[in-house]
Amino acid sequence: MKILVTGGAGYIGSHTCVELLNAGYEIIVVDNLSNSKQESLKRVRQITGKSLSFYKADILDSTALNEIFIENKIEAVIHFAGFKAVGESVNFPLAYYHNNVTGTMRLCEAMTKHGVKRMVFSSSATVYGNPVSVPISEDDPVGATNPYGRTKQIIENMLGDLQVSDPEWNVALLRYFNPIGAHESGLIGEDPNGIPNNLIPYISQVAIGKLNELKVFGKDYQTKDGTGVRDYIHVVDLAAGHVKALEKLLGSTGIQTYNLGTGKGHSVLDMVGAFEKAAGKKIPCCFVERRPGDIDISYANPAKAQRELGWRASKGIIEMCEDTWRWQSYNPEGYITHKLHYITSANTVVNYEESL
Ligand code: NAD
Ligand code: UDP
Repeated sequence: MKILVTGGAGYIGSHTCVELLNAGYEIIVVDNLSNSKQESLKRVRQITGKSLSFYKADILDSTALNEIFIENKIEAVIHFAGFKAVGESVNFPLAYYHNNVTGTMRLCEAMTKHGVKRMVFSSSATVYGNPVSVPISEDDPVGATNPYGRTKQIIENMLGDLQVSDPEWNVALLRYFNPIGAHESGLIGEDPNGIPNNLIPYISQVAIGKLNELKVFGKDYQTKDGTGVRDYIHVVDLAAGHVKALEKLLGSTGIQTYNLGTGKGHSVLDMVGAFEKAAGKKIPCCFVERRPGDIDISYANPAKAQRELGWRASKGIIEMCEDTWRWQSYNPEGYITHKLHYITSANTVVNYEESL
């Protein structure tokens, strides 16, 4: 069964490709490589010993999408492609609305045209904004506080409207909490551009010596140690959640929302401690002002995903940090050493196997 994975060369997409291939699905990746390297897909193949097809194309390009649907009998789409940086979305809102919202519209148009009506969509816990209480359940109020989060809310609403207009559509909206970690092989992981914004990529660059010290944003939050609390989830657990959601989609119609988190909150200082243990190194830290827009505490109630998808996160924060550290220390420059190797094919639509 062929599954189209948009944004499949990215962080969560590449880990999901591994789980899909291991579960026996055939996959077709479409990615414009705006925030990823084709090398990640080569490594997916290395991990699984299985092949996949790759189209270097933009989901905003209806002609390219049309060709992909004509060339492949696609049964369902897992849709990761999009921009994801909160701060950048504040500075470039139109780019975010265009890429995320218009991109999803074009994708849905192509799916409709080719009679493909199953989608797993990457939403985010960002849609909850400042939560009224924790743990956060799916039917708690939404109210994103930045343009990135609002693109996710708009897309959720758009997919809901589409499903009402045509009940044959079957959609799973997955609201991720804080994905971290890497595949245990150390071959694939998160490869941020420039100085990371997120906590764990920042800590791991301190550990490898690329950055001097972690700046802990705020020490007066209403939490056990004054630092922000989040629900960190291992990316491999998250990827497995997509396979479970896909299985559910294949057997029913409707639209459902699922929190994908562990249900446990950890503070910034907890994560520093876990990383120090995993890497066997001290992480120099200093306290600075709060980061504007940050909330005190966020963690999921993942009961619905457990009940309806039969999915539960299994990996703890030490394993998350060990796997991040393995990826970071095996690949101190991320995928960059392999970037030039593929640059000649960067502007063409190529079949992945032929490109190797
Ligand atoms: P990522 O940037 O690593 O992956 C996204 C991929 O989409 C990249 O490979 C990028 O090149 C591709 N892409 C972007 N725009 C495209 C377009 N117009 N056409 C084709 N390809 C395009 O990000 P990720 O962390 O893997 O996140 C995947 C999805 O999950 C995103 O939609 C993101 O908003 C969502 N999400 C991520 C997090 C997180 O913390 N990483 C949390 C919640 C939700
Ligand atoms: N954080 C921090 N220093 C950093 C990056 C993040 O103290 O350099 C804190 C941040 O204030 C929040 C937590 O780490 O409490 C998680 O932040 P991240 O950006 O990883 O995720 P998000 O804010 O999206 O939940």
